[in-house]
Amino acid sequence: MANLPELFGSMVFNDRKMEERLPHATYKALKRTIKNGEPLDLSVANAVANAMKEWAVEMGCTHYTHWFQPMTGVTAEKHDSFIYPASDGQVIMEFSGKELIKGEPDASSFPSGGIRATFEARGYTTWDPTSPAFIRDKTLYIPTAFCSYTGEVLDKKTPLLRSMEKLSSVAVDVLHLLGKTDVTRVTTTVGPEQEYFLIDKSMYDKRPDIIYTGRTLFGAPAPKGQELEDHYFGSIKTRVSAFMADLDEELWKLGVMAKTKHNEVAPSQHELAPIFATSNIATDHNELTMEVMKKTAEKHGLVCLLHEKPFAGVNGSGKHNNWSISTNTGENLLDPGKNPEENLQFQLFLAAVVKAVHEYQDLLRLTVASAGNDHRLGANEAPPAIISMYLGDDLGALVDSIINGEEYHSAGKTNMLTGVDVLPDFRKDTSDRNRTSPFAFTGNKFEFRALGSSLNIGCPNYMLNTMVAEELAQFRDELSGAEDINATIKDIVKKTLTEHRNIIFNGDNYSDEWVEEAARRGLCNYRSLPEAMAHFIDKKNVDLFTKNGIITEQEIYSRYEIELEMYSKQLHIEALTMIDMAEKNITPAVIAFVNSLSNAALAKKSLGAYSIYAETSLIEELSDTLEKFVKKTDELKAAVEAAAQYEGLELAMYYRKTVFELMNELRALGDAMETKTSAKYWPYPSYGEILFGV
Ligand code: ADP
Ligand code: MG
Repeated sequence: MANLPELFGSMVFNDRKMEERLPHATYKALKRTIKNGEPLDLSVANAVANAMKEWAVEMGCTHYTHWFQPMTGVTAEKHDSFIYPASDGQVIMEFSGKELIKGEPDASSFPSGGIRATFEARGYTTWDPTSPAFIRDKTLYIPTAFCSYTGEVLDKKTPLLRSMEKLSSVAVDVLHLLGKTDVTRVTTTVGPEQEYFLIDKSMYDKRPDIIYTGRTLFGAPAPKGQELEDHYFGSIKTRVSAFMADLDEELWKLGVMAKTKHNEVAPSQHELAPIFATSNIATDHNELTMEVMKKTAEKHGLVCLLHEKPFAGVNGSGKHNNWSISTNTGENLLDPGKNPEENLQFQLFLAAVVKAVHEYQDLLRLTVASAGNDHRLGANEAPPAIISMYLGDDLGALVDSIINGEEYHSAGKTNMLTGVDVLPDFRKDTSDRNRTSPFAFTGNKFEFRALGSSLNIGCPNYMLNTMVAEELAQFRDELSGAEDINATIKDIVKKTLTEHRNIIFNGDNYSDEWVEEAARRGLCNYRSLPEAMAHFIDKKNVDLFTKNGIITEQEIYSRYEIELEMYSKQLHIEALTMIDMAEKNITPAVIAFVNSLSNAALAKKSLGAYSIYAETSLIEELSDTLEKFVKKTDELKAAVEAAAQYEGLELAMYYRKTVFELMNELRALGDAMETKTSAKYWPYPSYGEILFGV
């Protein structure tokens, strides 16, 4: 490997390259756009496009692509070459400011939830100058936002950018009222920790369920799972280590600050954490990370699984969204500082987050809902489906003291266990102190832990930013006329924390008592996507997004429909895959095995053997289960056919309540037969082979 600082960002048209390659005035104009969101004129765009193209061509590129994040949940790209006809049949390499700023992919085949009828197929991609362009596979990638001809938002990036703007403008207002007039911009930052599985490609190729759905639909547990807890942070196998080294190098070239890597709880499960970046860049980088993970795995004869629950019985994969807010003057607004009890600014921002999470807990829940994540939330390995906040001992004590009007004693100051002076005064909560909380304060940021591993983090982040902006705006309005600003802040903080203390829970989120307690507190407990998604269109939520100019009512409805439709389709594909596996492979395999047992028994008998107990008891047990299995397969088939009578929310509920339940029952029967059938006959690699095969 070349030296790391040189390698880092070598495939990115980053600030240094811009400064080197752009005329000074152009560079300054572009920086103003990136930093302050000022509009960009075409002459600047032309100069930037030209410099980008020259760099890309030097790097061996022939094509460019507008890279965007449609509602499918995966990124999209359409490649155009730089070639331009010149005289006498020659070509030159050209790239104009217009081409940089605007692309026009055919939008008709992307989900739009009925917004854009197919005859109005035009969609536009527009350059997002705040996320740098980069090179992959000899193509210049330009991060863009995606909207329809008539201006409706069709992607996951636009609402995020808008929410960042909104939160910035409101937070700046608030800080100005507090006397911090030097602050001109506030940004949200995110560090997403990404979990994934790696399995051997040869195993993957033999599992239609993983190929079609990303997860195993059948599979009896291996004799060993994760019970010894020997995989978490365990030493990394050579092959995995080679993959990780390659992955790091690829990501570093792309300017992704991949920082931490380790084995996770389940066998074959791993994690990568980057250093945090602005929400926008973190989102782009997380999408890139997932893509590069998959590509890099291929090179190593591996397959990277990003599904939330590839294997039953061992942990699934999530994503921790570490989130904070900082100013352009370098201050983290969620840092309590040395004396949080005197830090009214921190208390005000904390109160805004507490109120936001309480009032919009349903949005936080539904933004992490997916067919895959339904297997995790509430299943004692991920946070529960109930959204609550963990503040830890220090902040918890502060909140209590504010509510009760008592003096505050930091748990950190009275409880110096290590006696080491270099530890911060305000104790940084290590996440293992409460790993069960969905939304935990971790020292100077919040960690939203309910995200599924394959989720585009743009969605939870635009919702989080918007709800916090909304609460801050209410505080701003109260503060703007105040005579005594400090007294008013104290009033707001006390009132808010008192009213919203119900969202704070520092105990064990996995316990049954919490489920009951949460119900008493009136917190939502939506166990599946359809239950949660139903609340997307509640008036309170529609008001939040429309009032803050993030997405329109029509766009909310379209997103709601897309989410429900994708969920139903996913379960549909899972059911069809199961039926296919059952009919074409599992049932015939068991019949063949039973047949071989019968032949063995007959042969033994004819030789005069006195016992054929082993054969007959197996034959009986397998035949009995097989009969149930075949009947259950038929039931599932009928249930899938009956789905045609429903649509929308009803359809999704039907898939969840009826189809999903039948799938679980069918699986249980299949797995029972797997444990009794000769491995020679069983058509699919076992859990043991897959999970311990790398
Ligand atoms: P741990 O959760 O083990 O304490 P870290 O404190 O290193 O780990 O942080 C985990 C993730 O949080 C990393 O991706 C890190 O970059 C990110 N992070 C740290 N500070 C911030 C911040 N101010 N805003 C957003 N993310 C942050
Ligand atoms: Mg974490």
